[in-house]
Amino acid sequence: MIVVMKAGSTEEQIIHVQKTIRELGFKDHRIHGEERTVVAVLGHVYPELIDELGSIEGVDSVVRISKPFKLASREVHPHNTIVKIGNLSIGDGSVCFMAGPCSVDSEENVIEAARAVKAAGGHMLRGGAFKPRSSPYAFRGHGEKGLHILATARQETGLPIITEVMDARDVDMVAQHADVLQIGARNMQNFTLLDEVGKAGRPVMLKRGLSGTIEEWLLAAEYILSHGNRDVILCERGIRTFETATRNTFDVNAIPLVKKLSHLPVIGDPSHATGKWYLVEPVGLAAVAAGADGLIIEVHPNPDHALSDGAQSLTPENFQKLTDKVARVAEALGRPLAQPAVAEVTAKRKAS
Ligand code: PEP
Ligand code: MN
Repeated sequence: MIVVMKAGSTEEQIIHVQKTIRELGFKDHRIHGEERTVVAVLGHVYPELIDELGSIEGVDSVVRISKPFKLASREVHPHNTIVKIGNLSIGDGSVCFMAGPCSVDSEENVIEAARAVKAAGGHMLRGGAFKPRSSPYAFRGHGEKGLHILATARQETGLPIITEVMDARDVDMVAQHADVLQIGARNMQNFTLLDEVGKAGRPVMLKRGLSGTIEEWLLAAEYILSHGNRDVILCERGIRTFETATRNTFDVNAIPLVKKLSHLPVIGDPSHATGKWYLVEPVGLAAVAAGADGLIIEVHPNPDHALSDGAQSLTPENFQKLTDKVARVAEALGRPLAQPAVAEVTAKRKAS
């Protein structure tokens, strides 16, 4: 439910509305629009509330939002959220590239990958130090040591880092090294983890779950937003369908639909969506054509020797081809590529 204040309502009136909402046992969230202020009412609202809040001075109307997500909803927050990572802006209409190995392996490989990503116009370095694997016997990542390798690659190249955090107990530690925390598909509904990253003081990229509906995905984003973390990026990475010819099925519908329903930026992940390196470029082009704010792409200097997801990893040469083609699609759509990113040196910054 949202309380729309009259244009010209006073600060005291708005504060009174917020106080009343809290007294009634709900959480409130104020959003300043260009013309007027709205206050979202968070909690299990009931129809009588429309009259109760509607009669307060300065209130124009009280609107029930049929969608269960509020802070993630464009109805509540009409303008695009722009997530800033150093000087990189995601969600402002430009197109960005996050790229790097699936998992952090050797320092040498990660630095080589980072240099190649930067040379091809990449804006962020990806790499998993904590890896969710279907089998417990597969390589599960170097853990904290992997975070140090990523930090070294950031220092070498200036590329900000995005990396996955899998366990709520590791959030502070990962947030000390990462510029963006990634929530993997398998953890989209790990609500304890979502609560923790909501408090971590870092932007979060939330991947869509393997069988996550759009509504479940946006509700998962709502968990993070409800802790006051506004810097949430969504990532469509393919969903599980009856089709087994590809690793997942890239839901291109999701991109324009989520951009209509929500103000949050959306990134396409054609690597995990397809599972095959030769499908990554065409599906990445489709994602950008459909309105994605950027792509996350697995790139490895030697995909045959990658410790995970080699079959879907691009060589640096193929990544360069992809960025060149995406730039042409973006240009045809009147969208610039994002400016090259320079990481604020955030390593070791204590999560707030
Ligand atoms: C990854 O980004 O390497 C990853 C594990 O992705 P997902 O969570 O989408 O499977
Ligand atoms: Mn991977």
